[in-house]
Amino acid sequence: MTLRAALFFLVTHALVIALIGPQDPVGSYLLLITAPSLAALACVRRARGSQAACKWRLLGAAVGLFSLALLALLYRNVAGLAPAQITASSLILYVFYRVPLTYVAASPGGGNRSIRTVDLAVIALLWLLYYLHMRAMAPLNTALWTQCLHTMSSVQNSLVFCFALIRFLAEDNPDRRDFFRTLSIYALGYFLLALYINTYQPQIPDGSWADLLISALFVLLAVMAGSRRRRPPVAVSCSLRRIVDAGVPLMLPLLLMMVALLVARLQPGLAMAGFIGAMFAYALRSVLSQVEVQRQRDELETLARRDPLTGLGNRRSFDESLGAAHRRARRQGQGLAVLMIDIDHFKRLNDTYGHPEGDRRLRAVAGILDGCLQRGDDLLPRYGGEEFIAALPSPEAMHALHLGERLRAAVESAALPAAEGHVTISVGVAWQAASDPYEPGDLVDRADQALYRAKHAGRNRVHLAPALQARDAPAAPRA
Ligand code: GH3
Ligand code: MG
Ligand code: MG
Repeated sequence: MTLRAALFFLVTHALVIALIGPQDPVGSYLLLITAPSLAALACVRRARGSQAACKWRLLGAAVGLFSLALLALLYRNVAGLAPAQITASSLILYVFYRVPLTYVAASPGGGNRSIRTVDLAVIALLWLLYYLHMRAMAPLNTALWTQCLHTMSSVQNSLVFCFALIRFLAEDNPDRRDFFRTLSIYALGYFLLALYINTYQPQIPDGSWADLLISALFVLLAVMAGSRRRRPPVAVSCSLRRIVDAGVPLMLPLLLMMVALLVARLQPGLAMAGFIGAMFAYALRSVLSQVEVQRQRDELETLARRDPLTGLGNRRSFDESLGAAHRRARRQGQGLAVLMIDIDHFKRLNDTYGHPEGDRRLRAVAGILDGCLQRGDDLLPRYGGEEFIAALPSPEAMHALHLGERLRAAVESAALPAAEGHVTISVGVAWQAASDPYEPGDLVDRADQALYRAKHAGRNRVHLAPALQARDAPAAPRA
């Protein structure tokens, strides 16, 4: 909604009130219903392309429900019904109006589906409490009930404002910050307006100037939602953000406890249900959050050990697992073999076919090597750019050498196109017996030197590092 359209709307409403006034409040009512409808449309439109899309839509839904509640009141006026006849439907609408509004202000969002379900259950319980209290106490209509209701409304409205403000102050994402700014201003306006109307209720007839105030609030919301002015990013203190992020899950149970406290004087049973619900929901939410954090931590741990391109382990995973593989081989009384594998002339392949095609060859070679070494205790990570490394128990040097040869032959026979001919690999093999006193790191160095020799000797070959005791071990035959 543009500023000019907003002014035109408000001037029209002012004229309707000035000229007709409370004698015939239907005209004012119609405009009163139009204002939140326009605000709802503006919120839904604002959702497009925004990183706070879901929040804008929920605010739009809340405001839409508010205009429906007003429509129910208009129907009462037009049909000349007694207030009691309309109470149920408009009450339900007012109750539902607050559901999405509270959710958007107080729910941390994100998380998984079960966490969001707990948040929704707290809000449902909150408004069920409110509704049951209203329904049970409304026919009595005592002064105590009215006072209790007004206090409850003020507490809820002020808390929605406080939550929105806190989240605005701690938000650094420009879209979400904009949303919480708008929500804070709207919630503050609503709180003040409700306070004013509740305080002076009997003296404010329908169709009076108070209608213009309500219209103005929703027109302001429509203007704010319609404005897409880009604000510069704001640096929010990290500690503030962390505190708010940690505190937001407390907001909904806190709200529920407040409402429970307020109904305690008139309906202690309902209050008890509210307290138990709030505590149970908070405990359940904490457990679910912990499970989610643990799941994310496990996922990160796995990611930190995976090479995203080939899906194999990475160098870090190899470094962490090599010692264990060494100990395991020793326990089994076996030797340990390390095979250092490098694709030949890979730079040329990249230069000829381009980097993406080079990536595809890398993945293909990784798949072939992995297929050759499919045994539980084999380690085969991507060690660097176009290098792989394997560590596995092996009874003797020749066994390891033959394994290297099997890998080389498998890649060659796959006939993957290269710059000249097909993709080939060179393999450096190092082996040590279970009784050798050397560290596994030495084995990696020796495999690297053997690879260097294989390259030097012409590539597409396997070279065995000289044995530690018998340094005249034979070089691998050219395949
Ligand atoms: P050599 O036979 O001596 O091993 O020659 P080479 O060309 O394979 O070796 P060099 O070390 O000169 O080049 C390695 C190339 O591997 C250079 C780099 O662009 C490429 N490379 C490293 N990582 C990746 C990757 O993730 N994707 C692709 N496409 N290329 C990569
Ligand atoms: Mg290479
Ligand atoms: Mg290399």
